[in-house]
Amino acid sequence: MPNTVDRHYELRETEKATEIIQKAMDLAREEIPYGKVATYIPELGKADPHQLGICMYPLSGDKVCLGDYNVRFTMQSVSKVLMLIAGLEICGIKRMFEKVGAEPSGEAFNSLVELDLNDSRPYNPLINSGALAVCGLLMLEVSFQDMLRFAREICSDQDIELNQDVFESEMKNCSRNKSIAYLLESKGIITTDVEDTLRFYTKMCSLNVTAESLANLGKKLANDGVCALSGKRFMSSRTARIVKTLMLTCGMYDGSGTFAITVGIPTKSGVGGGLLSVSDKRAGIGVFGPALDTKGNSIAGCRLLRERSNELRLNLFYNPEWNKDSRDGNVMAEIRKNSII
Ligand code: GLN
Repeated sequence: MPNTVDRHYELRETEKATEIIQKAMDLAREEIPYGKVATYIPELGKADPHQLGICMYPLSGDKVCLGDYNVRFTMQSVSKVLMLIAGLEICGIKRMFEKVGAEPSGEAFNSLVELDLNDSRPYNPLINSGALAVCGLLMLEVSFQDMLRFAREICSDQDIELNQDVFESEMKNCSRNKSIAYLLESKGIITTDVEDTLRFYTKMCSLNVTAESLANLGKKLANDGVCALSGKRFMSSRTARIVKTLMLTCGMYDGSGTFAITVGIPTKSGVGGGLLSVSDKRAGIGVFGPALDTKGNSIAGCRLLRERSNELRLNLFYNPEWNKDSRDGNVMAEIRKNSII
């Protein structure tokens, strides 16, 4: 009976979980030669593609930290989750979704093509255009310093800082984001100063985190927005639900559908190599691996999550029977047996 299986037992057995993750890491490393570090932000091109680290923090049980889990890297698009949380909490659902949609775009993360069509809102808050629209809203209410404080609190990491080199490097190479932001201004989506909005957005992308800080953030999302240790609430339960749903449907850009099938864990990626994953009611997970696939997602990180999601039963739709071939004896098999074609 699938529903009676205790899906939590491996996570409580730290040693066993460590062993499983270590094995998955060895397999994931095989992907590294097929990936490339991002170079369109020159400073990111300096990353060592061979780095790989993970931190898994279960709601009950000890953290499992392996490899380069405490190496600092910039959040990049993972910061879109922070902006979405803050935006929903401060501005509310109505104001937020007047500016941005909630649908997968099926396009690259920095795409402009769909912006000038039908609905003038960007498709969702987890791609560049959507996050820029969210920034425009947020800036009316909070400063970058407030967001930095929020990042430190929700990631339980007081060492998060702005990486000035990455920030300046991206500001010198941001013509696509600039084009998006001006287009959004022309449509009345961004009403704040465009250059200030770009700086705010790029600063958020340039926050230095670790896989461990992302696991801390993921753990709060997994626990309905509440810190399991202090009992402090960081967001409403409704915000947590919206954020996790958007992470599942849009968090990996135009790779979101395949990722949902193969991994089945709401995840947000960034071109710095970070992955923030939330196994609901179970664990927060942070991964770092700067070699990226063609869609801009950590190539080894995705493999690592894929390997682990099966063995640790983290997939949202996990069912112990799912590897069985059920083609014999099901209704369709019966119908085909009697078919006259
Ligand atoms: N700062 C990056 C950009 O705007 C973030 C993109 C990403 O991580 N996918 O292009």
